[in-house]
Amino acid sequence: MYKLIDGKAVSEYIKNSVKEKVADLKVEGKEITLAVIIVGNDPASRVYVNNKKKACEYVGFRSLEYALDEQTSEQELLELIDRLNKDKSVNGILCQLPVPEHIDEEKVIDRISPEKDVDGFSKINVGKLWVGDYDLAACTPMGVMELLKYYNIDVNGKNCVIIGRSNIVGKPMAALLLEKNGTVTICHSRTKNLSEITSQADILVAAVGRAGFVTADMVKEGAVVIDVGINRNAEGKLCGDVDFDGVKDKTSYITPVPGGCGPMTIAMLMNNTLVAAEKQGEI
Ligand code: NAD
Repeated sequence: MYKLIDGKAVSEYIKNSVKEKVADLKVEGKEITLAVIIVGNDPASRVYVNNKKKACEYVGFRSLEYALDEQTSEQELLELIDRLNKDKSVNGILCQLPVPEHIDEEKVIDRISPEKDVDGFSKINVGKLWVGDYDLAACTPMGVMELLKYYNIDVNGKNCVIIGRSNIVGKPMAALLLEKNGTVTICHSRTKNLSEITSQADILVAAVGRAGFVTADMVKEGAVVIDVGINRNAEGKLCGDVDFDGVKDKTSYITPVPGGCGPMTIAMLMNNTLVAAEKQGEI
């Protein structure tokens, strides 16, 4: 019988622990601030930014929103980041991705001071992650690690297979599992014999972006299956990358979509902002 990994409950637990620390700091007159930049009118980005603001309210952070026009130049955006980098009252900065095409995403990410880069996307923070000396790493894979920890799922010596090699999920996921002594394989769109590899995984992480991509024949009996995907199926219903109904009975643990990895990402953003403030010596 499989066990469902309850990302909603674990994310509440993380947010509540941040909230408690923030309440203690308030007593000392200290406040933590997250600045969120959004450029343009992408509806999905708007939903994400609103959710981040709500989470800030919940844990007690001050949140600043900079909603910039679609036509904002790259220079104007970089200048805003420079100002926020210098502003001592701002502890965390993130720019909601994607940015409009005329803006170089990489330049934007790397302009954010590494100490305030709460998404953990800058080259400095990615490098620090890979040498195992990091404070801020990408929120979604950090959330997966918290789920594994919460359910006492040991990574040590396990065969961990990740499907997807993006900079925001697949690659940092690999670094974090490796740090916990997993034997890690990253699969991607050019991987040959994918199901042969995935069916050897003790821990299988799907981050592909295709509804129902992972089917039962790709999964080892008793595996832990973590579904990072957020997709819409043919009926427009939210679903992950894993064919949940077909796969669940083969697993020992599985994350649902929604209610699995999704809520963890924002919880880890809150935690990263607290960590950033701590490292800045603000608390
Ligand atoms: P991406 O498009 O950048 O990367 C997808 C990866 O899948 C690529 O590395 C590609 O090589 C691989 N891939 C594509 N087709 C494949 C195939 N046939 N076989 C093997 N690999 C294949 O996507 P991403 O940003 O990493 O996101 C992946 C999914 O996770 C999306 O559904 C996204 O919405 C979701 N996501 C969820 C959260 C969250 O908070 N839960 C956060 C980020 C992304």
